[in-house]
Amino acid sequence: MVIPVGRTGDVREPETRELRVTPPHCPTCAAQLERRLAAVEGVTDVEVSTLDGVVRVTYDPASIDAAELDRVVTTIGGQISHVEGEDHDHLEEGLTLASGLFLLGGGLAYLLGDIPLEAVGGVGVSLSTILFGIGAALGGFPVVRRAFAELRQRLLGIDLLVSIAIVGALALGETFEAAALAFLFGLAEWLEERAAARARRSIRDLLDRAPKRVTVLRGGREIELPVEAVSPGEVILVRPGETIGLDGVVARGRSSVSEAAITGESTPVTKEEGDPVYAGTLVEDGSLEIRVIRPAGESTLARIAALVEEAQHRKAPVERFVDRFARYYTPTVVAIAVLVALIPTLLGLSAREWIFRALMLLVIACPCALAISTPVAMVSALVAAAKRGILVKGAAALEAIAGVRFLALDKTGTLTTGELRAEVLPLNGADPREIIRIAAALERGSEHPIARAIRALAEDSDSLPEIEDFQALPGRGVRGRIGGEEYVVGRPELFRELPAAVRELLASGKSAVLVGKPERPIGAILLSDELRPEAKWALAALRELRVEPVLLTGDRAPVAQRVAEALGIREVHAELLPEEKLALVEGLRERGGVAFVGDGINDAPALAAADVGIAMGDIGTDAAIEAGDVALMRDDLRGVPELVGLGRRALRVVRANIAVSILLKLVVAGFAFAGLASLALAVLIGDVGASLLVTGNAMRLQGPALGRQER
Ligand code: ADP
Ligand code: MG
Repeated sequence: MVIPVGRTGDVREPETRELRVTPPHCPTCAAQLERRLAAVEGVTDVEVSTLDGVVRVTYDPASIDAAELDRVVTTIGGQISHVEGEDHDHLEEGLTLASGLFLLGGGLAYLLGDIPLEAVGGVGVSLSTILFGIGAALGGFPVVRRAFAELRQRLLGIDLLVSIAIVGALALGETFEAAALAFLFGLAEWLEERAAARARRSIRDLLDRAPKRVTVLRGGREIELPVEAVSPGEVILVRPGETIGLDGVVARGRSSVSEAAITGESTPVTKEEGDPVYAGTLVEDGSLEIRVIRPAGESTLARIAALVEEAQHRKAPVERFVDRFARYYTPTVVAIAVLVALIPTLLGLSAREWIFRALMLLVIACPCALAISTPVAMVSALVAAAKRGILVKGAAALEAIAGVRFLALDKTGTLTTGELRAEVLPLNGADPREIIRIAAALERGSEHPIARAIRALAEDSDSLPEIEDFQALPGRGVRGRIGGEEYVVGRPELFRELPAAVRELLASGKSAVLVGKPERPIGAILLSDELRPEAKWALAALRELRVEPVLLTGDRAPVAQRVAEALGIREVHAELLPEEKLALVEGLRERGGVAFVGDGINDAPALAAADVGIAMGDIGTDAAIEAGDVALMRDDLRGVPELVGLGRRALRVVRANIAVSILLKLVVAGFAFAGLASLALAVLIGDVGASLLVTGNAMRLQGPALGRQER
């Protein structure tokens, strides 16, 4: 059954449609579904999430319209998904449990010397055989049913293979093997489904850090309401020790607030009137009245959870490898199984024995543990990162960060605090107040840290002149007209002529921007910025991880050199325009993986060009959350080495999982081929064991972060 859960894309092309196939029982089916949908004309991209069974189809609305696509997808998808929903799962669980009990009973009967029963037709049947037979039937029922569904859809699914093995074992009179196979296969499936459910839940838990109910002040009274019932503009009351339920601005009161839920930073921040506060953060010692600014579903916390959810759909290359592997693996094993059954039999060897070995190979063909291991590991890592205030927007980005060799850094606002100090230096006796007036007026249109520092110089920002034809020159400055006259603020190259005093000033290695008409500056504004206190530590930590920092800045060479020396950066490129930063990032990529970290202002091209774009900025601002592949919710460079470490650990876990599941399968296959294994052992080791090992390993990724966050 296919249930549309999507949003029919937005107005932008191409459009996306989401469908849910419940549950994604069979990884090889998912791969086949993906391939069939990809073959539909007009479909540009298909992604099947192994964790939640959501199929995401991206299509070109020009060649196929939404209704038509829906029809096609429903036919293909409807054919493919063969499990009718959650209720059905309880039935399967029950059947698996019952088959386990019969298996146990049969085993006991056998050990206690069995009771031979005279069956109709004179065949001697023992009690254990009957109990095993019932166990096999109960446990095998759901598998065979799904196998029929697969057959009708001409799919080569796992259920079909296991069904053949169960029926085959019964036919050979191996009732114990059949029962054990049915039970253990059910157990393995249940373990996998549980691991997937746990991973899904860990994403939802991100949201649970904000309370569901809040105290609203309405008409002078306090009313307790669910967060969904509160609209922006209303005022909520949060007492000491309570967690804030909605994003807002402090309207009254003062308190220290722990923002660990969002930034991962445990040191509390003082919040008072006018300060923004976020859902999920903890009010420690004062009461706050908070004016709500966003509905519950749009809180920063909700957006973080949504982005993490989204992130697992952007599969990492290593996950794609597993998908591809599963696709070829199953048919290959089936072909081998057929040969194993046929050739020795034709050569006159014991047919029974070799058919049994072939059945074992069929069972071994299930790549289930393998298919579940990567997404579970990736989600664990994504959630762990989110809890530390590192928002990674794709499993692919997580894998990329693990392989990064260079970290390109922007200077202003990234290596230095975005808080510059500005000082006016008039030229040729110009009036410093006039220089400030012009510069501050022009900088009104810019977000750059330099602009902020210059605006701060103006005492009365309301009386600044009007600007016409304003133009931001990214990486260079700003331009506009005041009373018909053109003025510029920015780099020396923006001016046709530089007075000797300016040339001297620049030669002295100071950081400065010039103010004036394009012909000639009338003043300079000296800027001094301070290094972030954590920058040195963060870069040293990165170097230990063998990631080489590279400074890319639009500022002047002497300034860049000083910063680089203070921080021990060896590769420095200064006086760059945004497009030159971009070219340098692309050049670095030829030497290895590159991450770029910037404050998101003027840096968009470089952020996009890097293998991983990391945006730093104030939490809650759209720019910080939206830009780049990774957003550091805590304005702190130490997040970068933390992220690299986490990415590498995640990739190590994934690789170990892949290796372990393939290795176990190979070992079991070897034993089976040599006639040393049983069906039961094959499933026990290859599926149950592998599932436990692999998901346990993946869950470890969440460990340390959870420990750190516990309140
Ligand atoms: P960085 O790489 O240090 O972050 P940018 O690329 O953002 O620097 O800017 C490079 C240079 O361009 C600055 O050092 C400054 O001289 C000039 N500049 C950029 N934006 C502005 C602005 N809004 N006002 C004045 N000068 C600016
Ligand atoms: Mg910058």
